[in-house]
Amino acid sequence: MILESTLACPQCGHATSEEIPLDSCRFFHECIQCHALMRPKVGDCCVFRSYGSVKCPPVQSHGHCCNG
Ligand SMILES: [Zn+2]
Repeated sequence: MILESTLACPQCGHATSEEIPLDSCRFFHECIQCHALMRPKVGDCCVFRSYGSVKCPPVQSHGHCCNG
């Protein structure tokens, strides 16, 4: 299980390395460069799934996101 993911901002492209919480989803992430609020795309429940280089732990282990 990989617990660090690079989140790339869809607006400015700025990427940061973020720790993925094991037991919860990250629904919001604020870009430190342009302060855009990143939200998951439709159908995703966590920003790591939509924008991360590494998906959230539930996706890594059984292929779908945190809430089913
Ligand atoms: Zn940004």
